[in-house]
Amino acid sequence: MKIPSAYLYGTAYFRPPNPPRSEHRWHLTKIREELGFDLIRIRMQWNAIHRQPDSFDWDEYDEIASICSDLGLQFLLETSLESAPYWLERAHPESRYVSANGQAMELGPYDSTQFGGYPGLCFDHEVVRQQGECYLLELAGRFRDNPMLIGFDCWNEPHLEPAWVCNYWGNMGDRLFCYCQETRAEFRRWLADKYQTVENLNNTWGRAYWEWDDINPPNRHGTYADWLDWGRFWFDQLGDHMRWRYDILKSVAPDHFVMSHSGAVPPFLPRPNAYIHNWKLAEHVDMWGTSFAPKYHNWDLGTCCGTIDATRSAARGKRFWISEMSGGSTYVRGFAKSPQPRSKDYRAWNWLSVACGAKATLHWCYLEESTGPEATNFGLVRANGQTTDRARAASKIADSLRRYSHIIDHHQPSESVGILYDPDNTMQLFAMEGEDELYTRSHIGYYKAVWECDLHARYITYDTLNDLSGLRVLIMPMCLTMPDAVAARIAQFVSDGGVLIAEARTGLFDHRGYNRPNLPAGVLSEVVGAVEAEAIYSDPDNRPRLNNPNNEQWPDPIYNGPSIHFNNPCEANFPVRAYLVPLEPTTGQIIAHCDSQCLGVNNSYGQGTAYYFGTYIGLALAAGDAEAKRLIKTIITQYCTAEVWGEKLRPRMIKGSNGEALLAVFNDSRTLRQSDHIVIPFEYHRAVDINNNQPVVIQDGNISLQVDPEDVKVFHLT
Ligand SMILES: [Zn+2]
Repeated sequence: MKIPSAYLYGTAYFRPPNPPRSEHRWHLTKIREELGFDLIRIRMQWNAIHRQPDSFDWDEYDEIASICSDLGLQFLLETSLESAPYWLERAHPESRYVSANGQAMELGPYDSTQFGGYPGLCFDHEVVRQQGECYLLELAGRFRDNPMLIGFDCWNEPHLEPAWVCNYWGNMGDRLFCYCQETRAEFRRWLADKYQTVENLNNTWGRAYWEWDDINPPNRHGTYADWLDWGRFWFDQLGDHMRWRYDILKSVAPDHFVMSHSGAVPPFLPRPNAYIHNWKLAEHVDMWGTSFAPKYHNWDLGTCCGTIDATRSAARGKRFWISEMSGGSTYVRGFAKSPQPRSKDYRAWNWLSVACGAKATLHWCYLEESTGPEATNFGLVRANGQTTDRARAASKIADSLRRYSHIIDHHQPSESVGILYDPDNTMQLFAMEGEDELYTRSHIGYYKAVWECDLHARYITYDTLNDLSGLRVLIMPMCLTMPDAVAARIAQFVSDGGVLIAEARTGLFDHRGYNRPNLPAGVLSEVVGAVEAEAIYSDPDNRPRLNNPNNEQWPDPIYNGPSIHFNNPCEANFPVRAYLVPLEPTTGQIIAHCDSQCLGVNNSYGQGTAYYFGTYIGLALAAGDAEAKRLIKTIITQYCTAEVWGEKLRPRMIKGSNGEALLAVFNDSRTLRQSDHIVIPFEYHRAVDINNNQPVVIQDGNISLQVDPEDVKVFHLT
């Protein structure tokens, strides 16, 4: 199997019915010859091809493949089962996905499946798997010997598909799946495998079921154990499903890579009902990737970088691509759309991707969309075929990336900060609140501090604790759950010399969602040298609405987000966020007060050290609290040294193998042009601006530069 080397550049091209069939040669010629791209992606949409039982309509796809052969343009086949043939639905209506509100999902069009058949049929039905397999085998067999075929993207944005249904008047119950009879049976089998006896399950969930068939998946909010298990069931199911697709394609085309790419990268996007566990999904494929639409989500460059760091972390050493970088504005709904990417966005996003370790970029998409809510959006090229400035900018950046592909191909970012993330926390919060946005915000907050330390982060889940190896610092944002074995492994990390940053209520809930009486959980109270006293919910916005005509706060200021004062490792003052949890130090040294209460401790444990805070610092960081950021950056930089660092600008190294490197310097300000001096690592003696090929002056080991807002400058170092 051949894994392509860096740096490939291309675009998603065809998703029926766009672009129109009569225009394929014109557009594909433009892609190859005017834009100079290396490859296109083609969505092989099930219902568009498998039009009758045992009958496949490949005509238009054959035509596209033939034009690609003429042009020397490679193609990536996206094997899509997220639409299903109507004849299959007609024969097996029982295989429709069923929502928590009890509605069976009839096949139809969707904002990104304009040709209909969405959301497909539930794969827990044997007949759907059989027909899906039949289609994938035909598809792989038809194209495997085509010399332009580069590989397969076997699942676009894997998640429990109907969860993202475009339904303007739907509620969460319309977005929770799947409650069909086969999925219920599959869930019971999964539970029986896990618990062996109904009595064991009863003891864990706190129920009085008599037999397995009594058990149904949770369809509204009650207790937590069922939601935690329902989430874990889906993480396993979707991982197994990825493996199923991979094995089918590999059985026919073993010499081609099979990849997939995430459509949302938790913890940077809240998507609890889609059951996305990127570690379990990426485990089964040869390569991984991500969609990337910064303006859709209003991401600054730091959040962009975190998203790509999380993608690399889930890939766990496998190569990854930026599989869908926005080609135009993204839609919000109807009239509303995000701003268009600018030339400098493509420069900054691509170099950031490269600095984070990505090896290819594909845009979503080539031609602006023609119908449905996505219409008039996403295209690098206008519907009339006019090439935009941003398409020309993408072409130009692709040239630069190719020129330095020998360096980019070798580069792997060095990581010294770990961040603990686990989908169990997402499910716990979803079961508590009906969403997981607070967890997302906590993660975005901490990542911004890491970004400003000019470091890359490695994300670690409860199942991938071996990935702690080599890290100096571990941050645990809003860790509501904490299995004892995980706590023990983290204690070992600290004991071996690691640095832990943890915050209020770590491990509040056990594996079944019951709150623990003593916090932080398990051995962590020894690690941090303190135990929690009774927690107070403290938030100035938490005012009673009833009987409060003048919007008064609570009379006792402790409930209204009072200020915490830190005296170690630096002076800092900022308000409590969400919870105020007084700490009772055992061996820990007090480093923060709120009124007379201890709100922060630092404790030596074995060879390492731990910081524990009696509030949610991640929420303070997400809210832009400058002093909270200074506190966390001070801790991190005590233990981690960046390869290059800046005051106002954010430099990142891209290192080749033979004494060559690239230095990319980003300005993450949305509006201000900024200046800085960057110390060049001592092994390099010459710096050339890749934009004009002119050497730049290195004075006292520094280069001085200015960068426009949300832009980047790149230097070739030798
Ligand atoms: Zn189902």
